Amino acid sequence: MKNRGYYGKFGGAFLPEILVATFDELEIAFEDLKSDPAFWDEYSALMSSYSCRPTPLTFAANLTREFNGAKIYIKREDLNHTGAHKANNVMGQGLMVRKMGKKRVIAETGAGQHGVATATMAAKFGLDCTIYMGEVDVLRQRPNVFWMEQLGATVVPVKDGTRILKDAINEAFRDWVTNMDTTHYVLGTACGPHPFPEMVAYFQSIIGKEARQQILKIEGKLPSRVYACVGGGSNALGLFSGFLNDPVDLVGVEAGGRGLQSGMHASRLCSKDARPGIAQGYKTYFLQDNDGQMKETHSISAGLDYIGVSPILSHMNETGRARFESATDDEVIAALKLTMVKEGIIPALESAHAFAQAFKEAPGLSKEDAIIINQSGRGDKDIFTVAEAFNDPKWKDFIIGKAATYHA
Ligand SMILES: *Cc1c(COP(=O)(O)O)cnc(C)c1O
Repeated sequence: MKNRGYYGKFGGAFLPEILVATFDELEIAFEDLKSDPAFWDEYSALMSSYSCRPTPLTFAANLTREFNGAKIYIKREDLNHTGAHKANNVMGQGLMVRKMGKKRVIAETGAGQHGVATATMAAKFGLDCTIYMGEVDVLRQRPNVFWMEQLGATVVPVKDGTRILKDAINEAFRDWVTNMDTTHYVLGTACGPHPFPEMVAYFQSIIGKEARQQILKIEGKLPSRVYACVGGGSNALGLFSGFLNDPVDLVGVEAGGRGLQSGMHASRLCSKDARPGIAQGYKTYFLQDNDGQMKETHSISAGLDYIGVSPILSHMNETGRARFESATDDEVIAALKLTMVKEGIIPALESAHAFAQAFKEAPGLSKEDAIIINQSGRGDKDIFTVAEAFNDPKWKDFIIGKAATYHA
């Protein structure tokens, strides 16, 4: 299995000896499941009864009129259970855990969305669940920590390093080494050692399969371009997979933060601040300096704020099959506001990056063109960040009032 899991020069599985057998077992379980003709039906049936699939493809009539160019369609991953595409991955891995006969799952989480999705899956499948989260993130993301705990998971604040996502990943691997007989590690995106990138992309491919059928049914032809935001890359790969062999432009949008020149962003594929390297068990573009020291990242959206990126996307960038752009925090807030007032839809801040880029390009396309924007998640979770970005005085009063009731 040595050379499997490479995408051009990216990917691989750089593992400590002690984990090799566990990854071999995982790869075999995944290959079995993929070659089982009944599996995809079992998976789609679960997603339809538990997570509202197939999610709709919504025609955005008002945004289309606003930009007076391509017809704009929105793939509604926000309507999944727990509010984002993350459900596709965790439920797929949950079915696999059941087949492997393991009783415990662990996961890393940064913003907490993947932690909540994993805790939800563990509750449904009756699994023990431990979530590793950097101590800094635990303090920043109290609402998600609260829900993970209420759902029955144990949340472990990681005190190592800079106490954020990458430290949580390291700690989750440490747990796995000790407990691999009973435990599965539910990795949250299409990153990490093989077979995780392929496996996560496989479960997320349900997005692209549906979107392709839906647009053909509505428009009678393929879209010209499709847009998705890129954190680790799983929702983008999910949508892209439906159009890989078609003459369709695939556009991934990274977090431009305060601008690519500012150094305060999380753009690995379209800035000059990232270079190929090996970390956390795989090879890809990392935001690191010449000495391999990881840089600090910034984004208004916690879900895109990551130093690495899927090796599959790094390869698609190098071959030119996908194009990568970035949207700044300010562009994202403007796109979010416009989508709310024009369509009554609240995209997650992550997803709003894809909207922002699509809005830049839609006017330059013809009215015959159709484009699809992947709305990876819903924006309710971002109320604290968005209310602050809008500088809403009534929200500020509400928070101060709430705090006062605890001090009384
Ligand atoms: C986690 C998350 C992302 C980023 O993850 P990918 O693996 O790049 O898809 C994007 N959007 C939302 C709503 C998320 O919760």
